[in-house]
Amino acid sequence: MKIVLFGPPGAGKGTQAKSISNRYSIPHISTGDIFRKNISENTPLGVEAKKYIDKGQLVPDEVTINMVKDRLQEEDCQNGYLLDGFPRTVFQAESLHDFLQERNEVLDTALLIQVPGEFILERMTGRRVCPSCGASYHIKFNPPLEKGKCDVCGSDVIQRKDDSEETVQERLTVYENQTQPLIEFYKKEGLLEVVDGTQAINEVFESICDILGSE
Ligand code: ADP
Ligand code: AMP
Repeated sequence: MKIVLFGPPGAGKGTQAKSISNRYSIPHISTGDIFRKNISENTPLGVEAKKYIDKGQLVPDEVTINMVKDRLQEEDCQNGYLLDGFPRTVFQAESLHDFLQERNEVLDTALLIQVPGEFILERMTGRRVCPSCGASYHIKFNPPLEKGKCDVCGSDVIQRKDDSEETVQERLTVYENQTQPLIEFYKKEGLLEVVDGTQAINEVFESICDILGSE
């Protein structure tokens, strides 16, 4: 099963991706997580990506696409994967399409988690993440069991630097201009599925499972 998960920042992609990955036994590949790991390790890729991420802008296509292609050729991707946050531009989507075609492979579903702009600011400014395992929490909607500690691995949760109000506005604008055109792209490919991301977290997951089926 090969799935693309997209939607505005704060739609709940990372939250749902963890559950989908467990339920369907496919690796969760988040380009944001890969960039953040590189930033924390101070690699050349991380240094380059940080310039854009801190401003709420997209990392250039060339850098991002090469990184994803490398990841998709790893052993654990042979039976499918869930891409979270990639593609984010039509050029990235076309590159993914070509990459799959060269291998006689196809994408199964492009799943849009739809959440109107007025929900986003509260979701993003209240988000707390685990820097060790990537788990995502919300101070109001999905707090960790023990305040400030990750349920999964016990690390201290933190607030992402790019979740400040100012950067969130920029990321929303970037989404509207550069990522929203993917809706038409995947509609034309016949792969688009839409889920209402304003429901509670478990309800969103149920809707996603209804779409993806019992495979
Ligand atoms: P994305 O990966 O799309 O940027 P996240 O999964 O990190 O988004 O979710 C953004 C924030 O919103 C997190 O704090 C998360 O706990 C919270 N959240 C996710 N889904 C929901 C939901 N259905 N209802 C309320 N809050 C949610
Ligand atoms: P995310 O964790 O998905 O919210 O991504 C955090 C940031 O990483 C984004 O705001 C971008 O700066 C960068 N990023 C993640 N995925 C991509 C992508 N597919 N293309 C370009 N930049 C990306």
